[in-house]
Amino acid sequence: MKKSILLLTFLLTSILTFSQDEVQIDGRIQPILNDFFEYCKKYDIDYNEKLFQLESIQIVDTLPLDKYNTVLGKVLRDKNGNINKIVINWATLFDKEILRVVAFHEFAHHFLDYKHTCHDCNEIMAEVNTSYFDIARDWDNQVEHMFTTSPVYLNKQHEANTSLASN
Ligand SMILES: [Zn+2]
Repeated sequence: MKKSILLLTFLLTSILTFSQDEVQIDGRIQPILNDFFEYCKKYDIDYNEKLFQLESIQIVDTLPLDKYNTVLGKVLRDKNGNINKIVINWATLFDKEILRVVAFHEFAHHFLDYKHTCHDCNEIMAEVNTSYFDIARDWDNQVEHMFTTSPVYLNKQHEANTSLASN
């Protein structure tokens, strides 16, 4: 009897761990991710499936932070080329505006299917941001622009139009 209870407990625990499908999210990034998901809801963009494709969203100290080579955030891919991790440089923690811009930038790569829109300008999806504070000051417009010009959003609009046309 005791043995079967043990076995049962073991089975239940392994089922639970398998079905958990947990995404490891750094607690300092979680509120920013929640905020990003609020915008996804506003623009009717589904984020659940993409969320569970991820293993983790972490703050790391392994990204370069040199004078001529600084990477503040990055999406990492598995061997099939699918994004499975988002990493943010610990240096962004010095300023919450920078952290938020960098996090939204990386989230947009994954959840909104963005490549970059320009090399060097003051918008969230620029490859190089010259002023994080200009973006922060213009935040609402910046976010609206980022969502409404994103590949995911434009595809949805296109699909909606096509299905209207075929009706
Ligand atoms: Zn980027």
